Amino acid sequence: MTLSRRHVLRGAVALGAAGAVAPFIAESADAAALSAPGVVHDCIIVGAGLSGLAAARQLTAAGRKVMVLEARERPGGRVVNVKTISGNLHFDGGAEFVGPTQDHIRALASEFHVDEQVTYNEGNNLFSVDGTVTPYPAAIGIPVDQTAPEVVAGITKLTTICLSITPGKPWEHPLAVYWDSITFKQWIDRTVITAEARLLFGLICSSTLSVGPDEISALFMFSYIASAGNAANPGDMFRLLNTDGGAQERFLDGGAYRIPEAMANTLAGKIVYNAPVSTIDTRSGRAVVRTEAGTFTGKRVIVAMSPAIAGRISYPGGLSVARNRLHAGTRMGYEGKFQAAYDTAFWRDAGLSGQVIGNGSPIDITFETYSQGKHWLMGFISGDNMRRLDGAPPAVLMKQCMDSFVDYFGPQARSLAVDRGFKRWDYDEYSWGGPTGLPAPGLLIRAGTALRQPNGLIHWGGTEAAFYWQGYMDGAVTSGYRTADEVHAALS
Ligand SMILES: Cc1cc2nc3c(=O)[nH]c(=O)nc-3n(C[C@H](O)[C@H](O)[C@H](O)COP(=O)(O)OP(=O)(O)OC[C@H]3O[C@@H](n4cnc5c(N)ncnc54)[C@H](O)[C@@H]3O)c2cc1C
Repeated sequence: MTLSRRHVLRGAVALGAAGAVAPFIAESADAAALSAPGVVHDCIIVGAGLSGLAAARQLTAAGRKVMVLEARERPGGRVVNVKTISGNLHFDGGAEFVGPTQDHIRALASEFHVDEQVTYNEGNNLFSVDGTVTPYPAAIGIPVDQTAPEVVAGITKLTTICLSITPGKPWEHPLAVYWDSITFKQWIDRTVITAEARLLFGLICSSTLSVGPDEISALFMFSYIASAGNAANPGDMFRLLNTDGGAQERFLDGGAYRIPEAMANTLAGKIVYNAPVSTIDTRSGRAVVRTEAGTFTGKRVIVAMSPAIAGRISYPGGLSVARNRLHAGTRMGYEGKFQAAYDTAFWRDAGLSGQVIGNGSPIDITFETYSQGKHWLMGFISGDNMRRLDGAPPAVLMKQCMDSFVDYFGPQARSLAVDRGFKRWDYDEYSWGGPTGLPAPGLLIRAGTALRQPNGLIHWGGTEAAFYWQGYMDGAVTSGYRTADEVHAALS
C-alpha cells in the first residue's frame, strides 16, 4: 500500500523514546486504493481520537482488516498539541491529566514511553468566590470545611447514592426516573442550604463537565461520579476533583497528545485524514461510508466520538429512535483553555500551588504544569464564563484570561509570562465544545441504553459510552476496546 498525502502538523512535535524532538507527521493512507471498487474492509472506524485508535489497534491485533477515517488532518481528537502565540512552545490544548484507576490510558503511556509527572500540590490553593480569593491547604483537596455538618451530610448522601449506581448503567437504578427528571442544581438545593455547601456541589459539576449544575440531570452527575473508578475501586467524587489521589494527580511528559500520535504511528497506511464522514449507508447489507476523500465499504463500522458529534452524520440505513434521540439530546460543554509559560514558578515563592478553584471569571480553575523547561499556569474557562465570551476576539479573550491570572497570582503573572496560548473548543468543528457529551435531563432514562447498543452494522464508541471514566481519556480507550470486541465477535 502506498502512502499518498503527507500532512505535517503545524505545531506538533513528539519526543521519541530517546528524548529527541521530531516532528510528528500524520501520513494519510492511500484513499484511492482503500476505496477502490470491490475493496471491503472488515471494519471501518470513524474518528481517530483515542477511542477509534484503540479500536483499530485491537482489531488489527486480532487479525482484522481495518481502516480509520478521520475528519481532521491529525489524530487525537480532543487530545491535541497547540502552539503558543510565539510559535516557539506548545501545550496540551485538550486532555492533559491522568490519575489513579485510569489504568488503560496509563498502560498506553507506558507502552509508548510517555512518562508521567506528578502535578505540584504543595502550599496553598486558592478558593475564589465572588471576587474574594482565600488560600487553603492544597493537601486537603476541596476548599470547604469538610467537618461542617451540612457538608458532611451532603457528601455522605452523594457518596451513598453514587455507590448504589451501576457504572455505565445509571438508568437501572430504582430512582433513576426521578433523578433524571430533576437537574443536579435542584438536587443540590433540596439537599444542602448553606451557600458554601451549594457552591461546593456546584463545583463538582462545573469543574468536571464545564457546565452549570442547572444544565444536567442529577442522574447524569451521579453516573459521572460513579464511573470515576475501576472494577476494584468504586467511583468517588474526590477521585474526580482531587489532585493527589485524583484525576489531576499527574500529567504526561511532553504532552498527552504523544499517546494518540504514537498509536496512529502503529496504524500507518490505515488512517485516511481530511476525510469527514457525511453518510453511513447500511441499506445494502454492507456499510457504505461516504467522505470527501472517497466512498469506503466495510462489513462493520465503529463510530468513535461523542453522540453530539455522531449526530451530524447521516444514517440512511436508519437508526433506532433511542439512538436518534441520543444524538439530538446530547451536547458538549462550553470550554476553553488558556496557558501561560514562565521561567520560574514565582507563585511557589508566595507559598501557592498554582491551583485555583471557584467561581472566578473568566478563568475559574487553574493548575500548574511543567514542559519544555518552562513552568506553566493553565486556566480553564468553563461553562457560562466561556459562553459569555461567544464572539470575543482572541486578543480580548487572552487579555481577560491574563487578568484572571493577575487576580489570582499578582502582577508577575503578566510581567513574567514568556509566552501564552489559548485553545477554544466551542468553535472547533468535529468537537463543538468539551470536555464531554452531556445528555439533556430526561434523556438517560429514555435513550441511555442506545449509548452502546449497536444499530445493525454500526457500533458506538467514544468516551461517552464508557463504563468507567466516561468523559476521560481512559474511558475513550476502554470504549474503543469494547467496540473492537463487539465487531470481532460479530465477524467470527
Ligand atoms: C479542554 C479539555 C480538557 C480535557 N482534559 C482532560 C484531562 O485532563 N484528562 C482526561 O482524561 N480527559 C480530558 N479531557 C477529555 C478527553 O479529551 C476525552 O475524553 C477524549 O479525548 C475523548 O476521546 P474520543 O476518542 O472518545 O473522542 P474524540 O477525541 O472527540 O475523537 C473523535 C474523533 O472523531 C473525529 N470526527 C468527528 N466527526 C467526524 C466525521 N464526521 N468524520 C470523521 N471523523 C470525525 C474527530 O475529529 C475526532 O478525531 C479533556 C477534554 C477537553 C476538551
